[in-house]
Amino acid sequence: MVPRSSEACQTSGWKQDLLEAYRDADRLIADLGLTRREIPELDCDPPEPPLLVPRGFARLMKPGDPHDPLLRQVLPLAPERLRIAGFGPDPLDERSADRGNGLLIKYDGRALLLLTSACAIHCRYCFRRRFPDSARGALRPRLTRALAAIAADRRITEVILSGGDPLMMGDRGLAGLIAGLDAVAHLKRLRIHSRLPVVLPARVTRALCDLLGAARVKVIVVTHANHPAELGAAAEAALSRLRRAGCQVLNQSVLLRGINDSAEVLRALSERLFDCGTLPYYLHQLDPVQGASHFQVSDACALELVQALRSRLPGYLVPRLVRESPGADSKIPLAG
Ligand SMILES: *Cc1c(COP(=O)(O)O)cnc(C)c1O
Ligand code: SF4
Repeated sequence: MVPRSSEACQTSGWKQDLLEAYRDADRLIADLGLTRREIPELDCDPPEPPLLVPRGFARLMKPGDPHDPLLRQVLPLAPERLRIAGFGPDPLDERSADRGNGLLIKYDGRALLLLTSACAIHCRYCFRRRFPDSARGALRPRLTRALAAIAADRRITEVILSGGDPLMMGDRGLAGLIAGLDAVAHLKRLRIHSRLPVVLPARVTRALCDLLGAARVKVIVVTHANHPAELGAAAEAALSRLRRAGCQVLNQSVLLRGINDSAEVLRALSERLFDCGTLPYYLHQLDPVQGASHFQVSDACALELVQALRSRLPGYLVPRLVRESPGADSKIPLAG
């Protein structure tokens, strides 16, 4: 038998975690000691996407609590079927920023590259349910063309890998892509927007850290946690591995009704992020995507929450409250 290196074991570790993730709501709630009777609004045959929850993430939920803030982020509920004016399928109108091949250029100097529509978890409030057509089709030729477009535009100094979740791509694919980006002299930074260090911490393998640490471009990993309970010991260790590899680690959150719309929860989230070597970057007002209206928090309430945070935390632990607006040249800070 061929002995397997520890790296090979680690890699198969996160892929195995994905295979074993919950895909059935009844199974998930049963394992949490809950029944359908306690969650009357549960929708077992939801509109896209289907339920998907890694087991490690589910283990951070409180058994017996139908209102658990982690459970509420992933459980399909009947209000997703509501059709509310102002909530549409493509709220950001990204079509106008689409340069083809999954490359979106909306803001000066930064190009967003959509790698894959796949995620390790399906967050019910997610706006990227409509994956642009230009990002479909065979990955390798598409990335080759996107890379050529980046190389041809000297104004681009930062590439942001997004999706879906870009870390769903394996280490070998990422290594090829990063080598290609490294070879573009005008690129200074590579940003990776990924929820995996939080929801599937085993994805942060030694091979991945070595790869990011060895890149010529500076690497910034922007994770996504909305509630302090998401940051268990495994996520903390993954975030610290990324830091030790030399990555700058930031976090973005979405403000979600019933989940983190409380000054106490947001304060605890910032504190917990700092414990994990991660700084809060953005707190997003929800994008008005169809099916997510029940998560919406009013602007007035959002502003009040951030004001409360400012009075309780050092400035560097207060995230910037922003909203995405079609056509604007940056994310828009909310002002009172
Ligand atoms: C959010 C976003 C960026 C990055 O914006 P920052 O304010 O630099 O974080 C870039 N491109 C697109 C299309 C985005 O949505
Ligand atoms: S991980 Fe990110 S992209 Fe994937 S469903 Fe959640 S919010 Fe959306």
